Amino acid sequence: MKTVLKTITILIPAYNEEQVLPKLYERLKLLAENNVNYGFEFLFINDGSRDQTLEIIKDYSNIDSRVAFVNLSRNFGKETAMIAGLDHFSTDAAVIIDADLQDPPELIPEMIRYWEEGYDDIYARRTSRAGETWLKKITSSMFYRILQKSTRVPIQQDTGDFRLLDKRCVAALVELRESQRYTKGMFSWIGFKKKEILYSRDPRAAGTSKWNYLKLLDLAIEGITSFTTAPLRWSSVLGILISFMAFVYIVVIIVKTLLFGISVNGYPSIMAAILFLGGVQLLFLGIIGEYVGRIFNETKSRPLYFVEEFHRSDNKK
Ligand code: UDP
Ligand code: MG
Repeated sequence: MKTVLKTITILIPAYNEEQVLPKLYERLKLLAENNVNYGFEFLFINDGSRDQTLEIIKDYSNIDSRVAFVNLSRNFGKETAMIAGLDHFSTDAAVIIDADLQDPPELIPEMIRYWEEGYDDIYARRTSRAGETWLKKITSSMFYRILQKSTRVPIQQDTGDFRLLDKRCVAALVELRESQRYTKGMFSWIGFKKKEILYSRDPRAAGTSKWNYLKLLDLAIEGITSFTTAPLRWSSVLGILISFMAFVYIVVIIVKTLLFGISVNGYPSIMAAILFLGGVQLLFLGIIGEYVGRIFNETKSRPLYFVEEFHRSDNKK
């Protein structure tokens, strides 16, 4: 006689992933077969795909009672797709995984092992990033360094969203309702017992990445401004430094004028000062603008997403 199994939800945000879904589904089925001591739910979040993604997921859900899905009303982006999935979570633990098999499902049993040992958040850290350009690697490592310098919350470098979360982590995460989301930061922010495991990141199994550098820059700015107000501090400090230097320079000019009289040269230095200060002011206006923009977006307090359709079969295997 079997006791009630602990159930784990595999949470998969999917946007135009028709090419990889069959491979992913095979690997997930294999995962469930190899871990019969647990119940599994495969919760797909269709993030407004324009291809056959939703139809494929629906086909699976017709033949497999473990497959559940949330169909969002449009494309909201992965960050929002993840919170939509977490909102529909109802089991003992969740594993967030990319649809493109860059996160190997074969790592999940190891995560489960640590979960049973009492860890709440077991995240996979990548040791290699096959299939990614050196530019992406360098910019990514620079970003992590800047972010870590600007906050006291420990940031997990080279860690994606691929992780197992105990249900109490999920309960914490769904309470964070900000509309401009930087989920990676939230994982760190909520705390709980964390455990790192290592893996080498595979290249995409099929299809193309939905990211480009503009989107990455966007996410980087999002990450910093949603996580810390340190840039505002930096701008104040730099402002004080520049003002101080300017003050010293003014004193020098006055003394020089008193001693040697007025001279008309000095045009280059004036231009340099004006241009420099103008640039610095614009930069800091931009930084302040980022935060004002965030305030604007949050004060609208709109729902994060809309669900077009939700399916979960009641008689789980
Ligand atoms: N994704 C999503 N909504 C989007 C973009 C991406 O749900 O607007 C999903 C995508 O289907 C995949 C995951 O997020 O499961 C990671 O996307 P991708 O592989 O394009 O990003 P990368 O691995 O290159 O960072
Ligand atoms: Mg990918």
